[in-house]
Amino acid sequence: MNTFASAWELEEKLKPFELKGEKILIMAENESQAENLKRWIQEIAEVPIGYETIQAILNSGHRLTIGHGKHALISAGRAGAELSRNLTNGVGMDSYILFYADMEDLGTHCALGSDGDLLEYTAIQNLFHEMVHAKHFMLGTFRYWDSEGQAIEEENIFRQQWAKKNGQPFRAREESFELEEVTERVGKCEDMQRKPVDDTWDD
Ligand SMILES: [Zn+2]
Repeated sequence: MNTFASAWELEEKLKPFELKGEKILIMAENESQAENLKRWIQEIAEVPIGYETIQAILNSGHRLTIGHGKHALISAGRAGAELSRNLTNGVGMDSYILFYADMEDLGTHCALGSDGDLLEYTAIQNLFHEMVHAKHFMLGTFRYWDSEGQAIEEENIFRQQWAKKNGQPFRAREESFELEEVTERVGKCEDMQRKPVDDTWDD
């Protein structure tokens, strides 16, 4: 986890594109990155847990800054806040997400499914996952001993609701998460990602 200041020192040329008053602030290099982030957030809000997550962020009393991060390419997204007891005591803090805003909607890499096979990790799934981390930082409900399990549990509910909304079969993500697993899979599911969404599912 990076502190707010050190994370932004990595990024230059970012300009503010405000969203939802001052509560969610988008920082991007250009209009197209800002439009991608805004569109993904709107699509996230179209399923119940996505809407609830955004409302919780807006009502937290803290600010979320979502910024384009070219260094976030491999993991695609990273959420953080300053280290403080307020992350776990119900008070919460301002939080940030660094997200690779130039990615295609199909994402940059795959995750691991609970069935042991590769699982798509779209821009929206990835951004929602980071918003779950951010929400828990902002509500002070960060499960510090298992923050990935906490985010993936809610990501799986999002996947289920998204699949239902779009008439697709639901596949869950494996809840034990290792960055090495993701990194190994970068590029390995490119064929799968190039297919139209309707053809991605065989079973
Ligand atoms: Zn995570």
